Amino acid sequence: MATTYSFRSGRSLTGGYMPPLDWISAELAELLQRDLLRELPAAFDLQTVMIEGAGQRLINFASNDYLGLAADPRLVAAATEACQTTGVGRGSSPLICGRSTIHAELERRLAEFEHTEAALLFPSGFAANAGVVPALADRGDAIFADAKNHASLIDGCRLSRAETHVYRHNDAAHLAELLAAHASAARRTLIVTDTLFSMDGDVAPLAEIAALARRYDAMLLLDEAHATGVFGDRGRGLAEAAGIEYDGLIRVGTLSKAFGAAGGFVVGPQALIDYLANRARSYVFSTAQPASTAAAALVALHVVADEPQRRTQLLAAAATLRKRLQAAGWRTGDSRSQIIPIAVGPAADAVALSQRLREAGFWVPAIRPPSVPPGESLLRLSLTASHTPEMVDGLLAALGTNHQDAQAQRKHEEF
Ligand code: PMP
Repeated sequence: MATTYSFRSGRSLTGGYMPPLDWISAELAELLQRDLLRELPAAFDLQTVMIEGAGQRLINFASNDYLGLAADPRLVAAATEACQTTGVGRGSSPLICGRSTIHAELERRLAEFEHTEAALLFPSGFAANAGVVPALADRGDAIFADAKNHASLIDGCRLSRAETHVYRHNDAAHLAELLAAHASAARRTLIVTDTLFSMDGDVAPLAEIAALARRYDAMLLLDEAHATGVFGDRGRGLAEAAGIEYDGLIRVGTLSKAFGAAGGFVVGPQALIDYLANRARSYVFSTAQPASTAAAALVALHVVADEPQRRTQLLAAAATLRKRLQAAGWRTGDSRSQIIPIAVGPAADAVALSQRLREAGFWVPAIRPPSVPPGESLLRLSLTASHTPEMVDGLLAALGTNHQDAQAQRKHEEF
């Protein structure tokens, strides 16, 4: 029997008679009923901070293009030129013939920028995390992971076959308890955390976590995806801002956010990088990132070094925006960054608020389970260097004052 489901937009689909796949339509219908069905948004064309799709122009408060570099003419020119000289695709993984001189130069410059011996490029940040964790930990090892780590780190932990102990979000005391209980039985120990959490914009207690790593001689993997280019005197991220120096430190970053390009990277000692180039499966078995993208990232590295005002002004503007939101009655959680959640609670209410903003000309997507725990749906507002004060004023006017305490209406949602 075929199942029919419909998106809110009215698009509906009736599965044909396809017994082995019919359960998929049923699953979609159930997600819809629980307000958790994601319909792909209109295909948007990016024009710096404006996006255009489905006949609508919207001011974009959803992008991770934090420094406003994704459409910067300097990056576009570098990518165009590299495309003309090296072609579009790389044709193979880096170890076969995919690594160009541009990639080699980018790895050298990334190591220099990050103040480490070496760097290794991956096709994406997701690929970096999903490849690095299983390369570092295997059966017989113990991983200690923050409960709100990014999906790519979670998948890396799952792939590793190591025993994974999840500590309460940002709770260094809980991490200490778990280490005391489980570290001694393990062959090797790895602590894994985001530094800046992608949904809540809050920051890991890095000094305490690094102290625990030292005490237990553990490897410490920090995912700086949202912090690179934004935090730290030189823009290296939150480990730099917190002054973390540790022999066991491994840092992962992405070129897809503040750097305005795409691709992931890992930085650390040369031996680590040599090892990962042999053992990280997402490096060994995936086609290299296009050289044009690497060329754009090289320019972004210069911009991050030469234009620190982009990050300092962004963080100052984010602090002001958080205060103004709070003054209007909106709860912004523990955000300390350019990522500002607006707590709503029920998934349906988050979707409704997002829709209201869209009608007013702003794109601020609702974040629902499984990206956040049930009952904690939110609007994820991401501020970038491209937003003008007028755009921010417009958004605040459209949001208005929050008269209800969303906490009170929070109801249990199951995922
Ligand atoms: N780590 C974190 C914390 C992220 O939020 C993301 C992407 N949202 C990634 C890694 C993956 O990076 P990329 O988009 O380059 O694959």
